[in-house]
Amino acid sequence: GKQLGNYRLIRLLGEGAFARVYLGEHIYLGTQAAIKVLKMEAANGSMDGFYIEARNIARLIHPHIVRVLDFGVEGTTPFLVLDYASSGTLRQRHPNGTPVPLAVVVSYIKQIAEALQYAHDEKLIHRDIKPENILLGRRNEVLLSDFGIALLMQTVQAQNIQDVAGTLPYMAPEQIQGQPRQASDQYSLGIMAYEWLTGYRPFYGSITEVVAQQLSIAPSSLREKVPTLPEAVEQVVFTALAKDYNRRFGSIQAFATALEQASRL
Ligand code: ADP
Ligand code: MG
Ligand code: MG
Repeated sequence: GKQLGNYRLIRLLGEGAFARVYLGEHIYLGTQAAIKVLKMEAANGSMDGFYIEARNIARLIHPHIVRVLDFGVEGTTPFLVLDYASSGTLRQRHPNGTPVPLAVVVSYIKQIAEALQYAHDEKLIHRDIKPENILLGRRNEVLLSDFGIALLMQTVQAQNIQDVAGTLPYMAPEQIQGQPRQASDQYSLGIMAYEWLTGYRPFYGSITEVVAQQLSIAPSSLREKVPTLPEAVEQVVFTALAKDYNRRFGSIQAFATALEQASRL
């Protein structure tokens, strides 16, 4: 089979807009790893973003962030070597339309918020929080991944960035308008909480329709879909989904704590 650096590629694990990820086996050590290879057609001639991703994620050491083991270049193909998350993604674990029990949602949000709070303290904005980018480890622990479009806050501030990137159904209003901030990650996590609790995202439709809904339509009641849900839980999710980022929780950690407390009411 194909080989990249010291890794023999075994099979395709998954694919996103920017990369293909393979299960690899180290030819000398026999250890397994996930090999993330940039899609040249998506790179638009520049591999800068891929190097930035590698450097951003490599300095994040956290029990709920996927670990970078190495980086290499084979010919002209750069690749990232990551810890292999053997239990797949949260999207694969919970396909559309199947609600997840509240206690499980609270546990996911807590773990993701811990990882994101750490990334935020390191002055990063992830910008692409969605179930496809959250992996599950061997003991079913949650692992935040895919820092491919993460931004350093100082870059946002210095360049007054007008960079619209992300995944529309999970994107905060200010991110859609080219002004991402850390509270935008909280909004994306709020969309995920809504999706897991009810089985469906709050907003569907064409690009124009979803943009309009993200910007100015309040999400419909979670309790209409799941009557057993505590009212306080619905309020917490709605706060994370506030259109005005000033009305969200002060930090992503505060969102997770509030959700946990509301789930006990
Ligand atoms: P992209 O930047 O193109 O979205 P991702 O980093 O999200 O690429 O990886 C694409 C897919 O590959 C993921 O959704 C997941 O299915 C799989 N994947 C990525 N990293 C790993 C990993 N460390 N272990 C197992 N599967 C992974
Ligand atoms: Mg991805
Ligand atoms: Mg990516």
